[in-house]
Parts: sequence; structure tokens; C-alpha cells
Amino acid sequence: MQNLSLDIMRTDPLLQPNPAARWEPSDNLDVRRPQLIVLHHTELASAEAALQTLKTDNPYGKVSAHYLIGGDGALYQLVPEGARAWHAGASRWAGRGDLNSSSIGIELDNDGRSEFAEPQIQALVLLLTDLCDRLKIEPRHVIAHGDIAPVRKSDPSAKFPWARLAAAGFGLWPSSAFNLLPNSPAGFDPWLALALIGYDLRDKSAAARAFRRHYFGVEGVDHLEFDPLELAVLADMQAQLL
Ligand SMILES: [Zn+2]
Repeated sequence: MQNLSLDIMRTDPLLQPNPAARWEPSDNLDVRRPQLIVLHHTELASAEAALQTLKTDNPYGKVSAHYLIGGDGALYQLVPEGARAWHAGASRWAGRGDLNSSSIGIELDNDGRSEFAEPQIQALVLLLTDLCDRLKIEPRHVIAHGDIAPVRKSDPSAKFPWARLAAAGFGLWPSSAFNLLPNSPAGFDPWLALALIGYDLRDKSAAARAFRRHYFGVEGVDHLEFDPLELAVLADMQAQLL
């Protein structure tokens, strides 16, 4: 246990030996780490209103997140990174559920209709840089609440600047400008690509809607046929993952 402080050993129940077992400590361990970062918008009028919601009971049930970023770029932390915040709800990504257990949740102060403020995006990029570095989270694993709960959720809104985040190195994104991507190959299956990226396809319309919100900045477009540009985007990202 040489890498873990005795203080943590004493105070965190998850790290205390079970008295019913003979304690045979092994040094072959590290701490369990989150693997995803899930972005949200608060859909509230202010960061103060969001703090209130994230810290108290509220009529729709208790919720929280590890971080909140104000429109002015102010960074608030509500839950330690090692603890399980309540932000993802019923959700699924890459075949896995219970994403609260394996993710960091970041709320962005935004009313759900406005553009995301520049100081807020700058603060987000700084936080993502720090989190991915310290917690060894793959930068590609920055996703939207709307991606992991496509039937129930649509945040952050279609106004969220994913291309800007990709330019800073975060999130899965096509490898060149959309209009320069080659056509998808013959026989290309967009649903296999969406599943490989991580989307839950139990409701295909919802998955298609989430994909278009994230990559094309449009809301509510949920038909099941993909146009050539959408196919090219999916084929490029599939190739990145194979
Ligand atoms: Zn959310």
C-alpha cells in the first residue's frame, strides 16, 4: 500500500480492510478512476440557482455534479472527484450503464437557449486539460449527457461548441473539415459506427437525434436515413476507432 496515504486508509470505508478476512496486503493496486467526462447544461437562470439545485433536495429528486462552471468562467466544485456524483441518471454508453460510477460530471451554467460564453468555454478547456492529465482519462472520452441518455436528455444544447473543444484536443471528432472528408465506403453501416462510438441504439431515432445535435448542431432531427455528409463523418470516426 505504499502509494496510498494511511490517512485515506483510515478514513475512507472503501479502503479499509474487511475485519472478516485475514488482511494480506498487496502493493499491486491503484485507485479506481473515472473513465468518462460528461458535460451538461444547467438550464437555469444563473450559477447561483444551479448551486442551489445541486446542493439541496429539489422537487425532481436530488442531483449533483463534480463541477459547475459559471457563464463568467468561475469554477465551482461540489463533489470530490473520487466520489460518485448524481448527474448521469439512467444512461448507457459503449454498452455500459451506471455511468455515475465511472464518470466526472461537469455542469455548465446556461439557460439551454443561449450561446455558451467564451470565458466559460476557456475555463472548461482548462479543467478538461487538468482532469484528463491528472485522472488519466482519455481526452476522446468527453461526451454529452444527451449522448448517454438520448431518449431523456438533450444537454448540452445544440449550441455547444464541440468543434472548438475538438480543436483543443477533447472529444471524438472527424479528422478533417467535414467538406474535405471522403465519401463513406460502399456497404458502410452507420448504425455499426454509432454503436462503436458508444451510442445506445435501443431507440434509433433518439440516437440519430443525439448524433446530429453533437456533430451538426441541430436539434430534433431524428429520421433514420443519413445523408452523404453524415455518413462521411461517421465513417471517418469509425476509422479512428478501429
Ligand atoms: Zn444533464
